[in-house]
Amino acid sequence: MDRMNLKERIKQGLFLLDGAMGTELIARGIEAGTCNDYLNIESPDIVFDIHRAYFEAGSDAVLTNTFGANKYALARHDLGDKVKEINTTASQIGRRAAGEEKYVLGDIGPSGDFLEPLGSLKPDELKDAFAEQAKALLAGGVDGFIIETMTALDEITIAIEAVQSVSGDLPVFASMSFDRAGDDFRTMMGVDVEAAVSKIVSLGVDAVGFNCGTMSLEEYIELAGKYVAAVKALGKDVLIYAEPNAGKPELVDDKAVYKVSPEDFAAATEKIHSAGVNIIGGCCGTGPGHIEAVARTLK
Ligand SMILES: [Zn+2]
Repeated sequence: MDRMNLKERIKQGLFLLDGAMGTELIARGIEAGTCNDYLNIESPDIVFDIHRAYFEAGSDAVLTNTFGANKYALARHDLGDKVKEINTTASQIGRRAAGEEKYVLGDIGPSGDFLEPLGSLKPDELKDAFAEQAKALLAGGVDGFIIETMTALDEITIAIEAVQSVSGDLPVFASMSFDRAGDDFRTMMGVDVEAAVSKIVSLGVDAVGFNCGTMSLEEYIELAGKYVAAVKALGKDVLIYAEPNAGKPELVDDKAVYKVSPEDFAAATEKIHSAGVNIIGGCCGTGPGHIEAVARTLK
């Protein structure tokens, strides 16, 4: 059976995303510092296997392996001219893993620089860069887009507008990364939940969310409550998504190790879900085992 239009599907209730790509690549022997995005070209089977593992665990959608596949991030690996090839190939890999029934979201991460005057980016050029990436993802057959791990409101605004300029009717998800700040939460650039939600929702996205960060599961549950309240206060019909990390990493031999078990992670997502978050996945440190536990607990 062919899949329902994704915009419709996410309104039908619980929708599961995948877990981390980066930590799964490391678990398969890819060294830190590698250009993960170029693995779509160099080692497509590894990327395909990770997608398949997530679908088998119960994910309804996977994110393409293109978190750093904008021209600025790729240029740090001298691959700035490979945006089209990498993104189109990545979405074809995702499509192949998803088959006809499951979904693929084109993943767009930050540029890694700041807009002027803080950094060197010009708004028009940044918008062109994100549009270039989104177009290449679209060419490979994605069902929608997810803009994630953003910390600056100006950059996420430009990313959303760029994606919407090429996405047609396909849904757009957008999330920022928060950390604990006193008794509140803020992104690295000082944005609070209310400011993030009201700006992102005003741009007409289909789902607003949070992902990554360095927090305990209890803090992610609290953050979810804040998101639900912020969306409610706007009185807008927009879905919320959450991709927490597998808790706070611990440093072991200079490496970040995530120790939260699939069961504990699933228990936290149960609370996040009952707070009113219908689209759930995991970020750093979560693997197919975590998603499988979430699927078992929530479905
Ligand atoms: Zn993460």
